[in-house]
Amino acid sequence: MAETNWAGNHTYRARIERVRSVDHLQEVVAAAPRVRALGSRHSFTDIADVTDTDGGVLVSLADLPPAVEVDTAARTARVTGWTAYGLVGTQLQTEGWALANLASLPHISVAGAVATGTHGSGVGNGSLATAVAALEVVGPDGELRTVRRGDPDFHGSVVSLGALGVVTSVTLDVEPAYDVRQAVYAGLRWDAVGDDLDALLASAYSVSLFTRWGDEVEQVWLKSRAEGVPAHLLGAPRATTTLHMLEGGDPEAVTPQLGVAGPWLDRLPHFRMGFTPSRGVELQSEYLLPRSHAREAVDRVRGLRELLAPVLQVSELRTVAADDLWLSNSYGQDVVGVHFTWVRDPQRVYAVLPVVEDALLPLGARPHWGKCFVSRAGRLEPLYPRMADFRSLRDRVDPDRVFDNAFLRRVIG
Ligand SMILES: Cc1cc2nc3c(=O)[nH]c(=O)nc-3n(C[C@H](O)[C@H](O)[C@H](O)COP(=O)(O)OP(=O)(O)OC[C@H]3O[C@@H](n4cnc5c(N)ncnc54)[C@H](O)[C@@H]3O)c2cc1C
Repeated sequence: MAETNWAGNHTYRARIERVRSVDHLQEVVAAAPRVRALGSRHSFTDIADVTDTDGGVLVSLADLPPAVEVDTAARTARVTGWTAYGLVGTQLQTEGWALANLASLPHISVAGAVATGTHGSGVGNGSLATAVAALEVVGPDGELRTVRRGDPDFHGSVVSLGALGVVTSVTLDVEPAYDVRQAVYAGLRWDAVGDDLDALLASAYSVSLFTRWGDEVEQVWLKSRAEGVPAHLLGAPRATTTLHMLEGGDPEAVTPQLGVAGPWLDRLPHFRMGFTPSRGVELQSEYLLPRSHAREAVDRVRGLRELLAPVLQVSELRTVAADDLWLSNSYGQDVVGVHFTWVRDPQRVYAVLPVVEDALLPLGARPHWGKCFVSRAGRLEPLYPRMADFRSLRDRVDPDRVFDNAFLRRVIG
């Protein structure tokens, strides 16, 4: 049977080879003219795929045993790259450790998430890639090498879109385990937000605004490391029952709310492991732009409301702190992510994306690498000051373009 990504909108073209060991992976990579690594398949495009199917291989590391090894002195954990964050979190919590942040879903692989600059929310929180202290990577010749924080190639190698090799393990910064309280506020009027949008986004450790761009932010999800959570937020009351952000969504599938304190790994993601995250029948896009333009971005998207409404399930606004990873969506600037959960109708969704991009890219918005977008290398290049450096790094590490594919040719060149 044909293998697809999680959303079912991309069928992988290449043969999928489930490697049995790192040695086996090294043999496969060294022998194949083209190779790509497959993570947990949660990206919404052909980003992971091999394009030249003639001898090209898509390697899956899913059969390799997961491992999480904490180095308490260094405050790091070395984890196998294909391991899901949910599993990493459970093991860390058992040993009294934690990560600084998580994405909305714990199901994604660490290497796949880091490769696309996946993020959670929080004005003081970098993307998940900013926790990376080192990567072990199988290069095009099949050799395993390590890139560490402090190495000259490090900043170009973390958010790599899979272009520099197959990551076998990732060393992540950890901190002592902590508790989080999550509370949801319903029916916040945009009028009440007024000029306070930035302050609202900064009002807790992690804040997400869900809206369909009408008069209200339908829900604000606030995740706090402080002792309590407020009863009201700009006039919106704290919900007293558990809410899903999607109309008709199963409240069982979301992490505990109601302001009750609990472990970080059970509150920072929106969705619970063991349940379908989000709707499961959808496409997604996200554009990350300087926080200073957040209000302007909101006004522009609200202006497109009628065009978007028929294909939009919900939008989410989140923040990510600036970093120095060359291809990161938050390279060099604190950003707000304007996210869209669309209906799963590629034709209608891709018809509105050029309009959304014409509205947001002039504000400096960078499309999330793992979600749907239409802009190509020529339009993306000015948004990434280190794009040319990334290309030079890729040419040096992979001169024969073993890890190249159609996605990279479109967006990197
Ligand atoms: C329901 C849902 C919710 C989401 N929520 C968020 C969110 O909260 N925040 C956010 O930022 N994104 C979110 N995403 C997007 C998702 O996090 C990214 O698409 C992420 O890259 C998926 O990781 P993956 O393991 O599935 O990688 P895949 O989609 O399988 O692959 C992504 C890229 O990583 C590369 N890759 C995978 N494994 C390796 C490896 N071992 N070595 C080298 N390269 C590798 C692939 O080649 C490819 O280029 C969401 C997606 C879904 C479906």
